[in-house]
Amino acid sequence: MKLLVMGPPGAGKGSQARKLIRDFNLEHISTGDMFRQSAERGEELGKKAMEYINDGNLVSDEITNRIVKKKLFEEGANTCFLLDGYPRTVTQAHALDDMLQEMGSKLTAVINIVVDKEVILERMVGRRVCRDCGYTYHTHFKPPKEEGVCDKCGGELYQRPDDKLESVRNRLRIYEEKTRPIIDYYKGRGVLVNINGMQSFEAVYRDIRKALRDLT
Ligand code: ADP
Ligand code: ADP
Ligand code: ZN
Repeated sequence: MKLLVMGPPGAGKGSQARKLIRDFNLEHISTGDMFRQSAERGEELGKKAMEYINDGNLVSDEITNRIVKKKLFEEGANTCFLLDGYPRTVTQAHALDDMLQEMGSKLTAVINIVVDKEVILERMVGRRVCRDCGYTYHTHFKPPKEEGVCDKCGGELYQRPDDKLESVRNRLRIYEEKTRPIIDYYKGRGVLVNINGMQSFEAVYRDIRKALRDLT
């Protein structure tokens, strides 16, 4: 199985991806996580990427395609994987097609999580992330047992610089301009499933599971 999870920032891609990779034994390929981890390790690529990310801008297609390709080919990714936050531009979608073709494979499904702008803003400003393991919380919708502390590993929770309001607005503008056109790109191929993301975590997941059952 090869899945792609799409949606605007804050739609719940990461939260749903976490459950899908566990239940279907998929490798989680999140370009956002890869950039943040690279920066944490002090690598040039990550540091350069964070300059774009912190202002809410996209990292270049060239850099992004390169890290995905490296992951899929050189690091011997599982044949079953879930792409989260990639592709984000039509150029990246074409690059992914080339990679899949090289593997002699194709996407099983493209899951598009649909949410309104108001819901996005509410989710983004309350998002908190563990510095150590990357687990995601929300101040209201998914609070940790102890404020500021990760339930999973005891790490410190922080607010991503790009989750501040100004940066979120920029990211939403960029989503509309650069990423939304990909939806049409996949719609024509019969692999796109739209999921109502404005429900509880569990209800969104139930709908995704149902859509996957219907597809396969
Ligand atoms: P979110 O979960 O809020 O959608 P991500 O963690 O997926 O955000 O990504 C954080 C940031 O990393 C993006 O706003 C963007 O700057 C950069 N990024 C992630 N994936 C890509 C990509 N495929 N192309 C370009 N930039 C990306
Ligand atoms: P994305 O990866 O699409 O940017 P996340 O999965 O990181 O989105 O979710 C963004 C924020 O919204 C997080 O704080 C998360 O806990 C919260 N969230 C995600 N899905 C839901 C949901 N169905 N209901 C309430 N809050 C949610
Ligand atoms: Zn943690």
